Amino acid sequence: MIVVMKLGATPAQVQHAAEEIDRLGLKSHVIVGTERTVVAAVGDERVEGAKQHLESLDAVENVMPILAPYKIASLETKKEPTAVEVMKLRIGAGNIGVIAGPCSVEDEAQIVSVAKLVKAAGATGLRGGAFKPRTSPYSFQGLKEKGLEMLALAREATGLAIVTEVMAPEHVPLVGKYTDVLQIGARNMQNYPLLEAAGESGKTILLKRGPSATMEEFLLAAEYILKTGNKNVILCERGIRTFEDHVRFTLPLTSVPYLKQKTHLPIVVDPSHGTGKSSLVPAMALASIACGADGLIVEVHPDPEHAMSDGSQSLTPAAFQKMMTECRKVAAAVGKTMA
Ligand code: PEP
Ligand code: MN
Repeated sequence: MIVVMKLGATPAQVQHAAEEIDRLGLKSHVIVGTERTVVAAVGDERVEGAKQHLESLDAVENVMPILAPYKIASLETKKEPTAVEVMKLRIGAGNIGVIAGPCSVEDEAQIVSVAKLVKAAGATGLRGGAFKPRTSPYSFQGLKEKGLEMLALAREATGLAIVTEVMAPEHVPLVGKYTDVLQIGARNMQNYPLLEAAGESGKTILLKRGPSATMEEFLLAAEYILKTGNKNVILCERGIRTFEDHVRFTLPLTSVPYLKQKTHLPIVVDPSHGTGKSSLVPAMALASIACGADGLIVEVHPDPEHAMSDGSQSLTPAAFQKMMTECRKVAAAVGKTMA
């Protein structure tokens, strides 16, 4: 950490800041500049409350941490990229894994038929919500356990890894029984008891970025899961809230190369929620792979017009297949493999 003293700080105030740094178990080095004095604090600065304490000292202007506050998620801690493998779904280590399926599980025929179609197009994971976080309490809330049973049938029929959302800590055992990857939705990214319960299940976790979460908040949310000892965390950029109204959310693809510089965790992109419009999905999927994403999660519905949720952003199976053909070309161009 670098502790920057205010202009005109007295030698006694600088001395006091240095003593406090030492008392926290760090080593202080006073650097007297022509304009200002700064005190470097050497050592693992992530001592609980250290930054806040030093900021509260008299004549301290500000405190700049050097290390990332997320420890396990940080590239400083683990240099090799983490790859996640669940059944045939491989995300990271040069593999682009694609998870596809409807926003919601609607009935057995729908989920089983779409599972077969997305598998034929190259998806290795099947998505489908059984517990749905809907903005309105009057909207379709999902088939709950019945939907989970249908996902299990689709898994049996196709061998695809099942990815479905869990919305509450007390649902983790039930949802975990039927799924291979637990999805934590954007609205729940900072639901800390849920992050811990999901982490403790030992299941692979797909963590979606909250629509107004910063990169640091996103990585600290991942840290909650990693801290339980669960190493299998996939980050998902799914778009953020901005002033733009030509799209449902703004999809900031810079987060992909940025996260690659900060964390070893694999990153997938959700161009469906990230745009809200099926016509924009294929281009953003290609761009995601081009900028370094390790995978995609895409909404595909056999009949988008009659979907019970998110029809306008869902691809038809035919459009999905076409997109996958294009994606393979981009993947090959950036030296990655895709099923
Ligand atoms: C979903 O995947 O259908 C979903 C609700 O996503 P998000 O949490 O990103 O809104
Ligand atoms: Mn959806």
